[in-house]
Amino acid sequence: MTTLPDALLYIDGELRPAAGGKIYDVIGPWTGDVVGKAADASAEDVEAAIAAARRAFDHTDWGNPENACKRLELVTRLRDLFEANYDRLSDLARHEAGAPLGAVSRAHVAMALEAWDDYLRVFPRLEWQRPYGSREHFGSSHDRMALYEPIGVVGAITPWNVPLFVNIGKVVAALLAGCTVILKPAPNTPGEGAIFGELAREAGFPNGVLNVVCGSDPALAGEMLVNDPRVDLISFTGSTGVGKRIMEQGAKTLKRVFLELGGKSAKIVLEDAPNFAQEIAQSMLLFHAGQGCAVQSRLLVPRSRYAEAVEILRRAYVGFGENWGDFDNPQHIMGPVVSQRQKDRVLSYIELGQQEGATLIAGGKARPDKGGGFFIEPTCFADVTNDMRIAQEEIFGPVLVVIPFEDDDDAVRIANDSQYGLSGGVVSADLDRAMRIARRIRAGSISVNGGMCIAGDIPFGGYKASGLGREWGLEGIEEYLETKLVAWRAA
Ligand code: NAD
Repeated sequence: MTTLPDALLYIDGELRPAAGGKIYDVIGPWTGDVVGKAADASAEDVEAAIAAARRAFDHTDWGNPENACKRLELVTRLRDLFEANYDRLSDLARHEAGAPLGAVSRAHVAMALEAWDDYLRVFPRLEWQRPYGSREHFGSSHDRMALYEPIGVVGAITPWNVPLFVNIGKVVAALLAGCTVILKPAPNTPGEGAIFGELAREAGFPNGVLNVVCGSDPALAGEMLVNDPRVDLISFTGSTGVGKRIMEQGAKTLKRVFLELGGKSAKIVLEDAPNFAQEIAQSMLLFHAGQGCAVQSRLLVPRSRYAEAVEILRRAYVGFGENWGDFDNPQHIMGPVVSQRQKDRVLSYIELGQQEGATLIAGGKARPDKGGGFFIEPTCFADVTNDMRIAQEEIFGPVLVVIPFEDDDDAVRIANDSQYGLSGGVVSADLDRAMRIARRIRAGSISVNGGMCIAGDIPFGGYKASGLGREWGLEGIEEYLETKLVAWRAA
């Protein structure tokens, strides 16, 4: 395995180690060994990044709406540099996040860069002002206009599962909107954040417009960003627990918070689904070992075909066999989970499922024979009821639960009986019926008959405990804008 270049901080236009020179080891999910070293930001570094971002917003014309074309040009130049570094991005995704090769060409790098292009394409459609016409007040006429302005300094706090995708989702949108940014990547994936600093410098970004602070402490930099009155908005992707804490702490400075959180999404396969067997078999939770916020980790099947579906899955898992966990196999879409901590967490849920009375029909074990890293078998539970914790809580691993339903109403009830509402799916031969069900599910995106809900030109986000706000598409850029209403008396 190659050794990663060091992940450095990027503060006020300078690529540098942490104040005091502290570094930490980055542990690779495939081997459990050190795959890189990263600068370990101190409070002094985070303070410097906040001050730099504030200065760049307040004292330069970066955020001026008239500079939108200049920003688009610079962000496009940065995009080109990312393309030129595709192989490095692929290495980072594999070594830091544990992405298998078959996943790199999807959500980890290829789709992430495509989504960046989508932002560039939709950005020119953004309205910077909207006339509201005139209105009579006390005998005189008043013209009104809304002006849209960048909100200011953005703290972008991101997770480790698909780090490039999420970093792009926040950094590119905020920069295009005219904000200045402090990116705080997850401790496990500093390199996929640090590369933004390195390439922004090469692209010629003005000092302080983009800053990157990585560190080993999961909370230090994030809490400083949340508590600091100089930061106008926190854009967070991560767990619901941390999201709630951010909202609570952000209240002290009445911070705007934009939250993309966890999920426990339901896929409903109706009894009339075309290619029922194939549809069920394709529901195995494999991609990136189930570490995706929008994965459909609850499979809902009609009770009348439940035994058949379980048998299909049992055979599908046997058939899938060992087609996972090989670092060099370009066909593999499943590798290890990200860390020892995540491995322990997923295994504890597998144990819990058995205690709760669910039937393990596939997998269930750690697989140290795959390498020194954090491997867990593709796993599936049948005889699951929706009140079990394995059906209610986000496991964030390769664990599918299969739940029976009686009829369409019952399927909707079960899908909605969750604190989460991020995504979901419905499959039926009758598109109208599937659409009726899709409308009744309280979630931010629903795939009907396999439709793809995630791309850079459409909004993505959650209902309920899955978040507030929308990333991607025009909506994803508008999250970073304020509305100013100006009215003037007509002469
Ligand atoms: P996490 O909540 O543990 O951490 C996310 C980020 O928050 C990391 O950068 C972490 O260092 C930081 N953080 C931790 N404590 C903090 C605190 N007190 N204050 C401020 N920041 C803090 O999540 P994770 O384990 O890195 O990622 C997995 C979670 O992310 C899952 O729940 C998954 O569903 C969610 N996720 C959601 C989406 C989405 O778009 N909805 C996308 C990807 C991942």
